Amino acid sequence: MTQASDPASITIVGGSATGLFAAERLARAGRPVTLLEGADGWSPEPRTLIVTRRMRDLLGDVGDRSVVNTINRFELMTDGRKATVALSEPDLIIERAVLVPGLAELAKAAGVDLRMGSRVRSLTATADGVTLEVGRNGSTEELRATTVVGADGTFSRVARAAGWPPLTTVPLIQAIVTLPPDLPPDTTRVWFQPDDTRFFYWLIPESPERGALGLIGEDGPETRRCLERFLEQQHLEPLEFQAARIPCYTQWVPPQRRMGGADIYLVGDAAAHVKVTTIGGIVTGFRGALGVADTILHGRTSDALGRLKRELDWHRLLRRSLERFSEDDYGLLLDVLNPSAKGVLSTLTRDEPARVMLRLCLAQPRLVLLGLRTLLFSAPRPSLPS
Ligand SMILES: Cc1cc2nc3c(=O)[nH]c(=O)nc-3n(C[C@H](O)[C@H](O)[C@H](O)COP(=O)(O)OP(=O)(O)OC[C@H]3O[C@@H](n4cnc5c(N)ncnc54)[C@H](O)[C@@H]3O)c2cc1C
Repeated sequence: MTQASDPASITIVGGSATGLFAAERLARAGRPVTLLEGADGWSPEPRTLIVTRRMRDLLGDVGDRSVVNTINRFELMTDGRKATVALSEPDLIIERAVLVPGLAELAKAAGVDLRMGSRVRSLTATADGVTLEVGRNGSTEELRATTVVGADGTFSRVARAAGWPPLTTVPLIQAIVTLPPDLPPDTTRVWFQPDDTRFFYWLIPESPERGALGLIGEDGPETRRCLERFLEQQHLEPLEFQAARIPCYTQWVPPQRRMGGADIYLVGDAAAHVKVTTIGGIVTGFRGALGVADTILHGRTSDALGRLKRELDWHRLLRRSLERFSEDDYGLLLDVLNPSAKGVLSTLTRDEPARVMLRLCLAQPRLVLLGLRTLLFSAPRPSLPS
């Protein structure tokens, strides 16, 4: 059956964090919104996420309800050295399995037509829009749409159908563990071990008892082996694992395209709106969703998308430098973190990388030399063997 579509209506594919957030914004602005989610319910697998306080400004109460812990301090470790950075305002630990149902409730209250168990199989261009083939309850239906938002994650079907190229992805894997006795539950520990990962290992407490210890790698099985070895070294037992491939921001993906007679947009992981320094995609995903919602509502590209692009580009520059860091460089980095530099890291968040970098360089000029030396004279570390 083909359902006719109201030209003002919007079809969103993917009902996780960014799709539900975009849907609610658009529905609140008076637009008819249909959201198609492939899963059968609003209870995604648990996933422990660390976000900056900016999530609170973006989400308000629904964000607050998903907070399971707060982080007041980071411990940075490398090669036997340690630096501690106290945060002037805490980072938030949120549980996705709480956040997503909360966002679904809000979207429903705003009037979004939420359709679970509706997996989009294909999009076909037509003269007056696109036709989505949707599998639902063992049958297939066709929906017509003139505006589609792809919020369907890293391997977005919407993006492929509309002609966006596939994204570069990296495997992320974390184990839930019992916290070691020497780690306070309000402290996140980060280890820089560039021989294992060009990113870092983290241990993020989600409660006074448990935390998520993980890393990002290049190759799935090798990343798992690194995690298992590291767990053993730390004398920690995995209670469960959480893993997925996540997109790496390599360049700005313009989040709008025409397909047939329809406007197609991407948000969240589908658009690689991910900070490539830490591979955090929640706050940037929400900001991209706001930008896309604004663009749809006002008919011109939102300034919010320009700001997001600049920020993601700064993260990419920083990552290019970090990719070249040896363990000695990380050691030097920790050694030169003087009280003023720590003050900068304490007050500014990773959501404002340009300000962080500028203020850090003023606080500790040796960081400029370290960054420039690695960018100009060190080769990027080779990818780990698969
Ligand atoms: C283990 C792990 C830990 C992470 N930790 C952090 C962290 O600490 N901080 C942080 O900021 N980020 C973190 N991230 C990244 C963050 O989770 C993602 O950036 C964010 O969840 C992206 O949300 P999204 O809504 O764009 O996509 P997704 O969460 O991937 O949602 C996509 C949705 O689309 C649906 N879907 C897919 N295909 C179809 C289809 N064809 N039809 C209908 N529906 C479809 C899926 O069922 C899903 O519900 C982590 C990721 C992982 C895997």
